[in-house]
Parts: sequence; C-alpha cells; structure tokens
Amino acid sequence: MSYILSLDEGTTSARAALYNREARRIALASVPTVSHFPHPGWVEQDAAQIWASQMQAVRNTLGLAGFGPNDVRAIGITNQRETTVVWDKATGVPVAPAIVWQCRRTAARCRELVAHATKITRKSGLVVDAYFSGTKIEWILDKVDGARAKAANGDLLFGNIDTWLIWNLTGGRVHVTDPTNASRTMLFNLGAGDWDDELLALLNVPRAMLPKVVPSSAIVGYTDAAVFGAEVPIAGIAGDQQAALAGQACFAKGMSKNTYGTGCFALLHAGDKEPISENRLLATRAASVTAEAQFAVEGSIFVAGAAVQWLRDKVGLIESAPETEAIANSIPNTGGVYVVPAFVGLGAPHWDAEARAEITGLTLGSGKAEIVRATLESMAYQTRELIAAMEADSGARLAELRVDGGAAANNFLMQFQADILDRPVVRPADPETTALGAAFLAGLATGYWKSLGEVQSFWRAERTFEPAMAASTRDTLWSGWQRAVGKARTA
Ligand code: ADP
Repeated sequence: MSYILSLDEGTTSARAALYNREARRIALASVPTVSHFPHPGWVEQDAAQIWASQMQAVRNTLGLAGFGPNDVRAIGITNQRETTVVWDKATGVPVAPAIVWQCRRTAARCRELVAHATKITRKSGLVVDAYFSGTKIEWILDKVDGARAKAANGDLLFGNIDTWLIWNLTGGRVHVTDPTNASRTMLFNLGAGDWDDELLALLNVPRAMLPKVVPSSAIVGYTDAAVFGAEVPIAGIAGDQQAALAGQACFAKGMSKNTYGTGCFALLHAGDKEPISENRLLATRAASVTAEAQFAVEGSIFVAGAAVQWLRDKVGLIESAPETEAIANSIPNTGGVYVVPAFVGLGAPHWDAEARAEITGLTLGSGKAEIVRATLESMAYQTRELIAAMEADSGARLAELRVDGGAAANNFLMQFQADILDRPVVRPADPETTALGAAFLAGLATGYWKSLGEVQSFWRAERTFEPAMAASTRDTLWSGWQRAVGKARTA
C-alpha cells in the first residue's frame, strides 16, 4: 500500500495529510506555528520553527495512520504564500526572521514604487503592495550586514515556504519553486514564466539567490533518507490558494472557488491566456498539471472570518463563531444594518488602505442579532464584489461558486451567499481543499492517479445552496451595501 502525503504549511499551523487511492484523507495532524509582532504592522516567523513544526506534523500524521516514510508514494507541498526566507547556502541557517505575508514593513518602499506601478502590473500581474515577497527580500538584503554581496555570489538563497521546505527535505540539494508561488513575488514575469530582469533590477534582487522555477506537478527532487527516513519523490507544489483551486477540482477556465477564512480569497481559473484585470483584481498563475502555463484571476478580502473573531474577542457579542448561524437565523433581516469590515482597509476591488470599519443603519430596534447577521452578510457582499469584478473582466457569467474555509461551515452564510450572488454555492465533502490540491498535483505527476478526469471524479459536493431570494429584495440589499461601502471609503 502506498499513499500521497501533503505538507500544508499555513500561517498559523503546519499540517500534514495522508490520502489513499480514492483520494480519501486517512490521517491529518496539525502543529501550531508561532508569529511574532516586533513592531506595529510587522509580522515575523522563525523559519527553523516552521521546518520543525512541519516535520512534527508529518511524524504525527504517519503515526496516526500507523505508517512510516516508506509508505509514502509521493509528497505534495502547499504553503502560506509570499512569506520570505533568506538563508545561508553553506550552513542552511536563515540570516533573518521570515517576513510573513501580512507584514507591512515595506509599505513606505511600495509607495515609492508606485511610480513604476504600470510596468510592475503589466509584467507581474500584481498591484504594488508590501504583501508580495519582492520588497521583503530587498529589505533583508538592505538590513543584514554583507547580505547583498553574498546574495550576488549565490551564497545566500531566497525561498518562499515551499522552497524552504523542499531545500530542507532534500538535504540542501534542491532549490526550486513553482509558478504559483513565483507569481506572488513581484519579480516573476507572469506571461514569460521566468524571473524578470527589469523587475529584479528595480528591487535590487540578484538572480543568483532565486530558486529555479519548475512545474507545479512534476518530480522535482527526492527527500534525503537521512532527513525524511526514505527517499520519496517531491512531485507537487502550489501556493495555498492555487492548491485550494486544484483541490476544488477547478482545472478549467471559468471555474472558481472562494475560501472563507481569516480573509477571503476568490480565484477564477482563466485558462491558458494571461488575464489582464480592468477591475483591480490580481492576475496570477494557476497550478498546471502539464507543462502548459495556466492562469487565474484572484481577489482578496483582508477581513472576513476575522470580523467574527472581532465580535467574539473584542466586542464580546458572541462566545464562539458557530453560534452566529443560529443568531442570524433568529431574525428575518438586519433591518438596514450593514457592517463594513474595513478594519485594515479594503482589499480588492477597492484597494483602499486608509478605509476603516463601520456599522451603518443602526436604529433603536437594532441589537446583537442585527450586528451579528450583518457581520456574516458582509462576507457575502464582499464576495459578490469580487465575483462581479471577475465577471466584468472575463465577460462570462459564473455557473457556480465552490466554497471552503472555516466560515463555509456556516449554513446561513452560504445560503445568503447564494441569494446575494444569485448563483448556486457548492460546498465539497472534503473541506481540506488546500492539502487535497497538493496531493492531486503530486499524485498526477507520479502516475498514482492516471488522469485529470480521474482526479476530478474524486471531488464530491456535500451540499449545494440554491439561490432563493426575490430579485427585488436582492437589489435593495445590494444597493444598501454599496451605499455603506461608499461611506467607509476614503477615496
Ligand atoms: P485560516 O485558515 O485563515 O486560519 P480558517 O479557514 O480556519 O481560517 O477559518 C477560520 C475563520 O473562520 C475564523 O476567522 C472564524 O472566525 C471563522 N469561522 C469559523 N467557523 C465559523 C462559523 N461557523 N461561522 C462563521 N465564521 C466562522
């Protein structure tokens, strides 16, 4: 018997999941990772701790299943994107803490780079933002003594978390990344599929420190037996959101998924043509199972489930996230109350960093239920904004939206999403779509699964939420949301 092992290194935990031939998950273990906040707006992690947590998760998962390293047929890797590690090639020791995707330390540098925004967007598909890896690498090279010269010699290596894990798994022999991760650096030419010399020069990043870009679904190296306990092919790589798109079996143009976690990430598969967004979405790579490039359009909402956490931890309106479902269902509507959760500004399609959260439309009749319900509804309204922008970009109407993430468990939210979007919302049987997507990529590359068709047949819906709201109600609610967002916006 042999199994596919997924390594899913997220922002808050490192997870490992084991899949059988029917793509059923037979074991999963999760080990927390620690973030540090040394200054306001800064977020760091210890790359050595990430590696140790990931290996602990692997041991726990194999232990739970009663298996060992020799039972693993292939490994797929998926990871928090954009998080930046720079390490010494000779010693394997990071020269600085990992700078996490959420970290805003390079925001001022990004304001300077806005002068080059048109070029950067045309080449990389991204908006200029501290979120991406490029300015984080530049920051480390600027601040660590002697780093720039060593990097130019190839004595320092850069990697996102996929690259860092693979380098360690292979005993320092393989330094690679895949197009989905590379496309989040602001250094990668999205259309050409390689690092872009002009962007490298703009950000002062030497090519010698960058990993080789390899396909998302291919054998890219073997684990070192001294590290992993067996020599196992590493055969799948994708950043978390693109892995979730694959795990939702969205491999064809026009298919889309939305993940409702801390934030929301909606991705629309764009096929083999590089998309250009006219509506302030990001163009990015989708995980391809062939040598051919595949693209996606992405919209990110910074605060989604995090607004529910805010109700719980800061306002004390609720004790746990799941109870919001019954509270929302206890009233027929919010009576005109809207929560605009712009706690850290607004992401796509507004990109308004200075906007702040608001509750609007309160009357003396508004209470806890209205505010809780309006908070849930805000995730659905924001998602409709993303989907509307995607449809405007692509000129095609979405057939359905596949959903995952912690808050997708909320049936009220999913029904409201279907209603406000006027599209079916489909929740899969296996909610761990990120790990599953990485497993699909590794299983296809090694012949464990024979075809995309076979992999697609594994995907099963658990529940479909059909739109059931009258068009006039939908239009009234939507206009109210647009007015509320208009009030929160600064530009
Ligand atoms: P992440 O991967 O971003 O850490 P998860 O996918 O685990 O997030 O989802 C957790 C988020 O979802 C939290 O912000 C939490 O408030 C929210 N959440 C979890 N369960 C529910 C629920 N039943 N209803 C509404 N929100 C929920």
